[in-house]
Amino acid sequence: MQVNDEPLKHIRRRQLPWRDSGITECGRLASEFPERVIFTDAVDVLIQQYGVQRSAFLLCITCFERWQTGAYYWRGNKGLFGTLEREGQNNRALADVNLDLAALAKLVEAHPSEFLQIRAAIAAGITPEEFAALEQVRTRTGGDA
Ligand SMILES: [Zn+2]
Repeated sequence: MQVNDEPLKHIRRRQLPWRDSGITECGRLASEFPERVIFTDAVDVLIQQYGVQRSAFLLCITCFERWQTGAYYWRGNKGLFGTLEREGQNNRALADVNLDLAALAKLVEAHPSEFLQIRAAIAAGITPEEFAALEQVRTRTGGDA
């Protein structure tokens, strides 16, 4: 990306994997100008390349300021919880987050073993299918696989 008279880019807000609100940090619909929307990881690359001050000239200032605030929520090891926590700061989104969690609780209640299997697979860094295959081997061999 060149530092010149290009139209300013907007930053797409981090999404929960199960709900794409499709909005930018400044609250516009990302679909209105898809060629001028970048993802948060691309902002990191931009800053590495140009530094904070020069990058700010390439980006919508509202997006950039909100990205700087929002980055607190997904930096470090907060992961998905950071995105969820940030979503929950908006009252309308908080209602959605509470519905999500209530639905998750119902899913866990209906499928407890699958939930534990998927959770264990994620913790082990493998797919649920790989985890299930390992569990089958363990069950067949009656011990450590
Ligand atoms: Zn913007």
